Amino acid sequence: MGIWECCELLNNIVDESDPDLDEPQIKHLLQTAEAIRKDYPDEDWLHLTGLIHGDTFPVGCAFDESIVHHKYFKENPDFNNPKYNNKYEGCGLEKVLMSWGHDDYMLIVVFLFLATVSATCHENCFIKQVVEQIHLLRPRSGAAGYRLEVANCQSWRLAVETNNIRNWKMVPGECENYVGHYMLGKQYRDDCEIVADLAIEYAKSLTLAGDGKDIWVFDIDETTLSNLPYYARSDVLFGAIPYNSTLFNEWVAEGTAPPVPASLRLYRTLLPLGFKIVFLTGSSQRLKASRASNLKAAGYHTWEKLILRGEADEGTAMVYKSNKRTELVNSGYRILGNMGDQWSDILGENSGNRTFKVPDPMYYIA
Ligand SMILES: [Mg+2]
Repeated sequence: MGIWECCELLNNIVDESDPDLDEPQIKHLLQTAEAIRKDYPDEDWLHLTGLIHGDTFPVGCAFDESIVHHKYFKENPDFNNPKYNNKYEGCGLEKVLMSWGHDDYMLIVVFLFLATVSATCHENCFIKQVVEQIHLLRPRSGAAGYRLEVANCQSWRLAVETNNIRNWKMVPGECENYVGHYMLGKQYRDDCEIVADLAIEYAKSLTLAGDGKDIWVFDIDETTLSNLPYYARSDVLFGAIPYNSTLFNEWVAEGTAPPVPASLRLYRTLLPLGFKIVFLTGSSQRLKASRASNLKAAGYHTWEKLILRGEADEGTAMVYKSNKRTELVNSGYRILGNMGDQWSDILGENSGNRTFKVPDPMYYIA
């Protein structure tokens, strides 16, 4: 049975628990999916979720008035029980218990389907690694259940990517959802793919000397390896919570970051063209072993140099990276390409004949 036939069949079923008996079910499914498409045009998975969505609400606390058909809760014994009428605020989504209903069967079916798809992914499958570490329910509203009004987060992101906003410490709270959806959605992947396309076009246009001195410099975090499984965590919130170096270094030490797929494609194209690869990262020298094994596990199996920040390396990321590139140039290397997610990767001395910037609206490094 196809999904449309399934919707038509559902249309013939009268759900007595549903107060919307006057409207055909199919109309409700389409209205929901179309409303989501309007707000999130690039998130095709979310359109499908709207089409097959169910209804649920938090329990164990006061029923919020923004819950659809709130008036029917008056029939529920919990409505007048003082034990269940406190306000839950700032307790974290993991501590919230949601109601169980017929729609949850659908959740289980979809979840089992995703688990099957995920199980057939090969070892380095980006989707598999990201999906496994993301909480099933992501909040899309404030603590009181109301949609937050935002400054224009798309304009904020554009200002970040163009280096018009500098030295910012955190993703604005009201843009946490926006950044999360962007990073997990198709737009981020497409934005990275076009950077790789342009870099490949440029690399193929060059004639290399063939003396092993033509290099391509790659940054690591959010350029060749993705920390999205870490940034999607509820204690990180895509950078909307202050940066915690201890937590981040613990995650890096695990050495399980997946590749940024577009950058891995670029890397795989550069090698047979004769480029030597240099990874230049602000990670501490102490993390060398886990960084190296992570790169290999993610598919970056060889490189000319892996440069990490040592105790003696001083200055901002831009100064440190400029110094390291200058050392490379002084030892005879030619930097033909340089790619990073931070402006500090691609500004400064000896930045390379051409630079490429991949998106990163989650953090800023000077
Ligand atoms: Mg980086």
